[in-house]
Amino acid sequence: MDYINATTSAMLPHLQDTYWGQFDEISKYNVHLNTFERLWAAWYAWMGNDVLATGILSFAMHELVYFGRSLPWMIIDRIPAFNKYKIQNYFGLATGVPFPPLFTIIYQIAIFFVLEDTWHYWSHRALHWGPLYKNIHKIHHQYSAPFGLAAEYASPIEVMILGFGTVGVPILWAAVTKDFHIITMYIWIVLRLFQAIDAHSGYEFPWSLHHVLPFWAGADHHDTHHERFIGNYSSSFRWWDYVLDTESGPEAAKRRRERKAAKAQKAQ
Ligand SMILES: [Zn+2]
Ligand SMILES: [Zn+2]
Repeated sequence: MDYINATTSAMLPHLQDTYWGQFDEISKYNVHLNTFERLWAAWYAWMGNDVLATGILSFAMHELVYFGRSLPWMIIDRIPAFNKYKIQNYFGLATGVPFPPLFTIIYQIAIFFVLEDTWHYWSHRALHWGPLYKNIHKIHHQYSAPFGLAAEYASPIEVMILGFGTVGVPILWAAVTKDFHIITMYIWIVLRLFQAIDAHSGYEFPWSLHHVLPFWAGADHHDTHHERFIGNYSSSFRWWDYVLDTESGPEAAKRRRERKAAKAQKAQ
């Protein structure tokens, strides 16, 4: 039987180029691995590029869980008996038309950006505290030179903590003001994803937004954080790091030195 298998794969080498070909090959030599481990190993072997394989896997998992977990709620939405349990009406989360005026959408999203950035600054700074760093945040810092897909590469606990700034803030806003439309939520999530991916893009252009808006963080700000592991804790804006003197990078260090020198001169 083994002889026949060996002959087939010798005659049909392209079989090993397929995912299942890899799976069979790995299964043959790694009888101690369970099926899930073999499927896993075959994926990495077949892709031949760990970064890409991880990126695609993370993306697929995110979408699968996101849509998969939403499905039961979509079904429940259609069952009238469950209607009385729905918080939405109570929370003032509107889903109807017409959409709110553009001005409302813009000012609410502006507020979310400011609040999310604040939440991000403090929780991200806390995540750099020894034990939290070692157990949670270290995963995200595996890439010292980030690329777009690395934005969501983090421990699920971190995703939950930092995600509160993105999802929790609008929900609290809706609960307090009772003036919130789900379309605003969608636009906010899209913009926030753009912000997170751009911040991890690893590209600094002459036309990058922070040249126009000096307080906008952008890739330059977050890249330094990944490079130096310290300082630049904010997500969207530079003001928290500026005010609390946690800015990172050579320019910030230079400013700090100058300030110190000026202080010493004054003391003399
Ligand atoms: Zn960090
Ligand atoms: Zn990062």
